[in-house]
Amino acid sequence: MQVKKILVIGAGPAGMMAAITAKKNNKDAKVQILEHGTEAGKKILVTGNGRCNFTNAVMSAGQYPKECQGFVHSVLNQFSSENLKAFFMQIGLPYKERNGYFYPRSDSALAVRDALAAEVKRLGIWILDGFETESITCTATNVASGERFVVRGTQNAEAKTLYCDACILACGSSAAPKTGSDGSGFKLARGLGLKVKKPVPALTPLELDSAYKKIYETWAGVRSNGRVAVIVDNEELYADSGELQFANYGISGIPVFQISRYASRALDKHRDVRIRLNLLEEADDAWLQQFMSFAERRGGCTIPEFCAGLLNQKLTKALCRFLSVPIDRPIRKLPAETLEDFLKALKNLEFIVTGSKGVEQCQVMSGGIKHNEINAQTMEAKSIKGLFVCGELIDVDGPCGGYNLQWAFSSGFVAGRSAAGVKE
Ligand SMILES: Cc1cc2nc3c(=O)[nH]c(=O)nc-3n(C[C@H](O)[C@H](O)[C@H](O)COP(=O)(O)OP(=O)(O)OC[C@H]3O[C@@H](n4cnc5c(N)ncnc54)[C@H](O)[C@@H]3O)c2cc1C
Repeated sequence: MQVKKILVIGAGPAGMMAAITAKKNNKDAKVQILEHGTEAGKKILVTGNGRCNFTNAVMSAGQYPKECQGFVHSVLNQFSSENLKAFFMQIGLPYKERNGYFYPRSDSALAVRDALAAEVKRLGIWILDGFETESITCTATNVASGERFVVRGTQNAEAKTLYCDACILACGSSAAPKTGSDGSGFKLARGLGLKVKKPVPALTPLELDSAYKKIYETWAGVRSNGRVAVIVDNEELYADSGELQFANYGISGIPVFQISRYASRALDKHRDVRIRLNLLEEADDAWLQQFMSFAERRGGCTIPEFCAGLLNQKLTKALCRFLSVPIDRPIRKLPAETLEDFLKALKNLEFIVTGSKGVEQCQVMSGGIKHNEINAQTMEAKSIKGLFVCGELIDVDGPCGGYNLQWAFSSGFVAGRSAAGVKE
């Protein structure tokens, strides 16, 4: 098949990368992007708190969830972190590294979006914005046009039908729908007969059992380092350490984001989900004994006062209440074991997880088109010749740290190159 016309659905990082790569590899092809929003790459603008963390110094498939590592490995092998950095330089985006995380040198996500859009324009790729793709049908060859796919949609309330030889689905997921990814890509994929693993929110804050709402109101706004593990039906599935952010609904922060995909999936299956916190990760028994020995001199203090150098006082007060430890009595008037029990409990606190902050506040969705439906060497759907898929629409979700944008760019590159007719 000689590819003459390529339609890319979605102008996010994956779609723009796919279109750029397709055009570079097949100058004769007419490449068009259909975007239902009013601007390209809207989600890029909110990434990395407006700074766009696009890749990581430790970029390997091993950083992604176990179930998709083999698939991700094949894709990253074809377009690595080094390739992405080189591409950024080519389009005028020098970069910098901060603790292993890569950002544009200017710390401007807007610069990334604009540079990608400028490259799209430079290559003569059209973006049809305001075009809502509603259905895609595949025929062996379309009788009317001689092309393979019929794409139907609306633009300015007007029904439109477009045709193409190759179609690249790059609609993203349903995370942060205000940025354009409203889940309609999953519908398009199902319409084409592709299997979709139910998407659930990932990289999201977690809501905890509302029975302790008063306690969460006390700790709201506190940040403290610690380890958080997700426990499903009494089994620890995953854990991460770092800065935890305590909120009036529950808990947030990067370590919580990292475990949230496991919590969301288990909650969706109505399983018992808890988090276990260790707020004194570095403290072994000897350390605790030494710390407690100071209480002899400071026995007139309450526990929150005594622990003021150890933990934020708001947090200590909240945890005293949670553990039914008096907060206003001097340590020397408490039973001898109270302080030791309290400190030990800080290493092993369990809270019931009742939900997440959902699609509105998650960074990605875990789930999507099942990766075993896609050829990792080409990103072509195994069951539909000429249909390519890339980005977050697939059931690949990475941790925080640039892994999701790297995935979008790498899979977009492979999809675009293959759609252009380049053989693996
Ligand atoms: C707050 C936030 C912060 C983040 N920070 C980071 C970060 O620092 N580093 C990182 O690696 N990742 C980060 N991510 C995740 C990352 O942004 C996404 O994984 C990535 O944008 C996915 O790219 P995509 O092209 O697959 O999808 P999207 O970026 O979602 O793009 C899809 C595009 O398709 C369009 N579209 C959808 N349906 C249709 C349709 N039916 N017809 C036409 N057009 C359609 C949408 O409008 C959109 O423009 C963050 C996400 C959020 C929400």
